[in-house]
Amino acid sequence: MVCPRCSHRSVISISLKIGERDLSFFRCTYCDLQTWRTEDGSVSLDSVLDLARTAMAKT
Ligand SMILES: [Zn+2]
Repeated sequence: MVCPRCSHRSVISISLKIGERDLSFFRCTYCDLQTWRTEDGSVSLDSVLDLARTAMAKT
């Protein structure tokens, strides 16, 4: 995994599940770029929070 902004390879990735969705979080330790992705592609933090709210509302 290479950072899309600075091209450094020092990217941390974390996979997690919110509700029924698989999410991946990437953070570049060099330029501090933070990115969320789902199987559909990149998503904003707002979308992630919406998913979390929806998932919690169901339980
Ligand atoms: Zn970077």
